[in-house]
Amino acid sequence: MGRPSGRMAASFLLGRAMDNDDRPNADLKALVRTIPDYPHAGIMFRDITTLLLDGPGFSTCITRMTASLPARPDLVAGIEARGFIFAAALARELGVGLVLLRKKNKLPGRVTGVNYALEYGTDRIEMHADAVQPGQRVCLVDDLIATGGTAMAGVELLRGAGARVEEAAFAIDLPDLGGAQRLRAAGVTPHALVDFPGH
Ligand code: AMP
Repeated sequence: MGRPSGRMAASFLLGRAMDNDDRPNADLKALVRTIPDYPHAGIMFRDITTLLLDGPGFSTCITRMTASLPARPDLVAGIEARGFIFAAALARELGVGLVLLRKKNKLPGRVTGVNYALEYGTDRIEMHADAVQPGQRVCLVDDLIATGGTAMAGVELLRGAGARVEEAAFAIDLPDLGGAQRLRAAGVTPHALVDFPGH
């Protein structure tokens, strides 16, 4: 097939998909499966397992998530569990370390944690207390941002350890649920490849 054309190469660097559909990342959006009424009635579950099953698609997703960042961070922080998949691949692509933000009681060392509100009840994420050094620039990563409760808890946890958190990367944004806006208000720029209006 030869070398990619200049337009293809430029669009790749800009994180734009030019095949089939000129909308940004339409090729990746087509790989996300929507399952209605999971885990509750009324929820449209955006299932990334179909994206992961597509080797070139997952690889392209990671390349474009990497290209969306304005600068290389010192560390990438992944949120359990689906965030780990994207964060680990992104850390490998960037050549930086990975810090795991885990559900409570999963980490073996001394931890620091943050409680956050869920629709019903509360949850908690933790990280090793010595994982991040003050002043390190950390990029937060998850598969999807919805209300932003999870991501904001991650930002609070990392900042509590002295990290500078100014960028966050997601494969998917549900913009109408307001999470990306919450991050912006907190001084974190959210980067997402695909959005699904509505919920
Ligand atoms: P939130 O804290 O509301 O921003 O929710 C984000 C977290 O919940 C992410 O870790 C997602 O994996 C998951 N999540 C929330 N809503 C959905 C959805 N509609 N489809 C798939 N995952 C979701």
